[in-house]
Amino acid sequence: MGNMLSAARARMHRAADKLDLAQETVERLDYPTETLAFSIPLRRDDGSLEQLKGWRCRYDSTLGPTKGGIRFHPSVCEDEVQTLAFLMTMKCALMGLPFGGGKGGVSVDAGDLSLMEKERVARGYVRSAARILSPDRDVPAPDVATGTREMAWMVDEYGALTGGIEPHAFTGKPVALGGIEGRTPATGRGGLLALEAMRESLGLDGSDGLSIALQGFGNAGTWFARAAVDAGHRVVAISDSSGMVSDAQGLDIDAVIEAKEKGGSVTDYDGGETSDDGSAIVEVECDVLVLAALGGVIADADDVGKLSCKAIVEIANRPILSAADEPLREAGIDVVPDILANGGGVTISHAEWVQGRTGLGWDAEEVDDYLQEKMEDAAEQVRDLMEDKGLDMRTAAYGVALRRLCAAISATGTAEDFGG
Ligand code: GLU
Repeated sequence: MGNMLSAARARMHRAADKLDLAQETVERLDYPTETLAFSIPLRRDDGSLEQLKGWRCRYDSTLGPTKGGIRFHPSVCEDEVQTLAFLMTMKCALMGLPFGGGKGGVSVDAGDLSLMEKERVARGYVRSAARILSPDRDVPAPDVATGTREMAWMVDEYGALTGGIEPHAFTGKPVALGGIEGRTPATGRGGLLALEAMRESLGLDGSDGLSIALQGFGNAGTWFARAAVDAGHRVVAISDSSGMVSDAQGLDIDAVIEAKEKGGSVTDYDGGETSDDGSAIVEVECDVLVLAALGGVIADADDVGKLSCKAIVEIANRPILSAADEPLREAGIDVVPDILANGGGVTISHAEWVQGRTGLGWDAEEVDDYLQEKMEDAAEQVRDLMEDKGLDMRTAAYGVALRRLCAAISATGTAEDFGG
């Protein structure tokens, strides 16, 4: 088993130790059910041929078809895909969705691909993974460097292979192609709903707007920032891979989005202060640091020592590694964990999947209501368990997920029932 997965599992066991669960049901979640590894031959535009590596992991399907995104990134490897599929298992359980956890990825630098090359990779991925995908077995969605267009290519390729039209085989599709209104903003908006629901537990209650520093300005980051400003908060700094822009009075989010669209980076924003060191965002003094870029940015006690925030929201998957958990607790910085904070994305994927399965459309208002209800419900369950058992937020979030998973696993009997 890889190091990333064993570190992620340790967080689950920490939660299990505080709850009264049959040990064998927790152990059932220690290893992934299946992981398919494959190569994707990519014909580059210059005529050369490259062999890319890809994976799809179905971690656990106790609660339903496995669900989770497909990412294109050079860091993708089997251990990472399995770890992220494990996180999806916990996330879907916590959010109360009828899904298990899955994940996929290709080790490739998406920024280095032309649009046509990207289409070949997306279609090649589906050709290689098709045998484990299916609307009732394993349902992919977008993740890092994939979005609605990649899903459109993938669902088209899947239909060509199966000979059917199965829009619910993928979620995160363009609205015009069976997607759902509100899926693209859902992760960012859901992140803000989670923060609002947890304000009191984070010691940030009161009606005043919060000051927020935001790492990462991709899909989830931009929608989080928009929702935060609409709710009366101030986004005082934003970073991306090229640098950082800051303004203690609060940045004009629409103008930052426009600047990035035109110039390629948040540092193209006209106003505030800019710096080409994006990693310094974690040192910005603020109420809430929002991590919406990649995994592993707060890796250990040294990284925790640099922070000047009161709380953290993990919009990316696993931006904080387990070695930083204890130093964060000691520093009194609580974290709204990824499996809750970014659970809005897969929640609206569920709405899209239901829409595709039933053939009945959802309008934007129904989607927003569903998002709000699911985020608030999950946050409430986490708060109750925090209070009941005196747990930190991450451990309580794993605890809520585990209770659901272990109840389902034990429904077929445990050693106690079998007289073991
Ligand atoms: N990739 C997203 C996540 O990590 C969404 C998954 C989905 O919608 O299936 O939660």
